[in-house]
Amino acid sequence: MKLYSLKVKRIIAVLSVVCLCSLIFAGCASTEVKTEHTAVNRNFYEIYVGSFYDSDGDGIGDLQGIISKLDYLNSADGKDSLGVQGVWLMPINPSPTYHKYDVTDYYSIDPDYGTMEDFEMLILEANNRGISVIIDLVLNHTSAQHPWFIAALEEIESGSEPYYREFYNFASERVNGDYYPTVGGLFYEAHFWDQMPDLNMDSPELRAEVAEIARFWLDKGIAGFRLDAVMHVYPSERQNLEFWSWFVDICREVREDVFLVGEVWSFENAILPYFETGLSLFNFPFHGHDGTINKALQSGNGDTLATEIARYDAEIRLRNPVGVNSLFLSNHDTGRSAGFIPDINKRKLAAAIYLMIPGNPFIYYGEEIGMTGSGIDENKRTAMFWSASDSTGITQNPKGSTNDRVPENGVAEQLLDPNSLLNYYRDVLRLKARHPDIFDGGIEKIETDVAAICAIRAGSVVVMHNLSDEAVSVQLPAGVTALDGFVSPTGVAAELKGETLTIPPYASIVLK
Ligand code: CA
Repeated sequence: MKLYSLKVKRIIAVLSVVCLCSLIFAGCASTEVKTEHTAVNRNFYEIYVGSFYDSDGDGIGDLQGIISKLDYLNSADGKDSLGVQGVWLMPINPSPTYHKYDVTDYYSIDPDYGTMEDFEMLILEANNRGISVIIDLVLNHTSAQHPWFIAALEEIESGSEPYYREFYNFASERVNGDYYPTVGGLFYEAHFWDQMPDLNMDSPELRAEVAEIARFWLDKGIAGFRLDAVMHVYPSERQNLEFWSWFVDICREVREDVFLVGEVWSFENAILPYFETGLSLFNFPFHGHDGTINKALQSGNGDTLATEIARYDAEIRLRNPVGVNSLFLSNHDTGRSAGFIPDINKRKLAAAIYLMIPGNPFIYYGEEIGMTGSGIDENKRTAMFWSASDSTGITQNPKGSTNDRVPENGVAEQLLDPNSLLNYYRDVLRLKARHPDIFDGGIEKIETDVAAICAIRAGSVVVMHNLSDEAVSVQLPAGVTALDGFVSPTGVAAELKGETLTIPPYASIVLK
């Protein structure tokens, strides 16, 4: 972006300030909870674009590569498809880094990944397959190479009227450890890295830019955004809630059913208040090695898991009756789930548990085939393993990755193996698809007298998981009469005889 275009943008931004001020005022004046249920429930799939599929042989995954693999994600006949209805693309904007969480231009596509035409084709082709696309939006900071930051430094050096310097947080002294020295004897705030200066959302001109960016991408046909570093935009929760409530309003003006999911990578008490803004929030307490789901798998206590699922859901409803829980086992920042769930039966059960908790689950690419990766971030973002015998489309690993491990079998082989992890994910998603209440039915824990059983009522159906390595028998709960499907890692069938259910080891059943 050249400076002349910055000046054009500046004029547009100034013109937007008048209406923006009224929006900010409205945001401050009304702090009511956003209870309209507008977002559509979907199973999502998180893609690090650079490692997914390389269409042109340069070793880097790209948008055309995703287009060529959309049938794997979802297809009309379901043949060889995972069966997801949404994808989250990690950052696609131009950036000097491989991960692209430091943006230099919010209005275009990184050339490594392709062109805007590729992106528009991706939206079209995805929508044709019933897949909605959400993209990462990084609003806490830009790249230090973003023209806004460069212009801000130029303003300071030349002593000219401040415009872009208001986009960032400059101070005459080192306010805290997040501040770095720069021109004019000043310091700038950069919480995550000195190459990622933090934005100042108190600037009405910057908010006008943010609104323009959101509209730009929503007008392209995306279904929403994954929002990075939600709790870091402002120092206080109160200010953050105001900002994100304002942002939700901006997006809903363009797309009433927009789906916005925020990253508040923290404990429950920090996450829950954000449901009031209308955002969905990732369920960090349930994810990972030390999360609620893996702890239950290790202890074998399903009853406690059911208590936690119902309790967390109730905590969400307390803040927002239509809040959407966004579940995941691991993501691009955390150790992959196959690493901390080495037992294949437990790994299959983990999938059935989180995919069938009401809300929107996010499968991290490669999780469904048992890819591993931990330690440095590059290790968690390695090449999608499409096939053990055909390297077509397989990307290079991110530079610096020390993780050369791949599953024994890739997608191609696992599709042919009825007992594969991939086919288990497909079976779970097909079972779930027949019971839409699992997405958003009100949750209630069902008491059984078996500690290993996790039993949850979701609307008109009941989902039960057996967390033990033995078959268990429980009484049919009230309100349901039929066993309407199951998945079972050992291949042993679940049974209902009279009023007695027999659930095989690590199996999951749906009753209606
Ligand atoms: Ca490529």
